Amino acid sequence: MLETPHVVVGAAIATKVVSPALAIPLALASHFVLDKVPHWNPHLFTETQKLGHPAKKSTFVAVADVGLALVIGLFITSRFATQPERAVTILACCLASVLPDIVKWPYYYLKNRWEPLKRWVLFERSLQVNATFWPGMLTQLLIIATGFWWISS
Ligand SMILES: [Zn+2]
Repeated sequence: MLETPHVVVGAAIATKVVSPALAIPLALASHFVLDKVPHWNPHLFTETQKLGHPAKKSTFVAVADVGLALVIGLFITSRFATQPERAVTILACCLASVLPDIVKWPYYYLKNRWEPLKRWVLFERSLQVNATFWPGMLTQLLIIATGFWWISS
């Protein structure tokens, strides 16, 4: 799944579950639950198998997605600027919600083929439920909308 829906749900969890000791593990767990929702992703793995690295177009999508996720995460955090503990929890939950994907970046972009990392990439990939582009984008837009609705409710 793209990072933006992960971050919105991670932030939503942080805004509703005040205890960081509970919110951060929940945000991490939400990553694996959301990857089970049929979604579209750039094909970083398949391209790396074929070309030795992700294609330019996929990297562009990935960078745009991470940029958007960062902006949204920081925006939601900024709404809690007067409550520093909550703000830190939100940031930590945003990070926890994408951690299972972030750890894969050295595999794709630094050509790191460390065995445990390779195993993690394959394991994380095996959890994904993929869909074609439009249906797979629609599910992610719905997750983002639901996350914002949850935050504002
Ligand atoms: Zn993932």
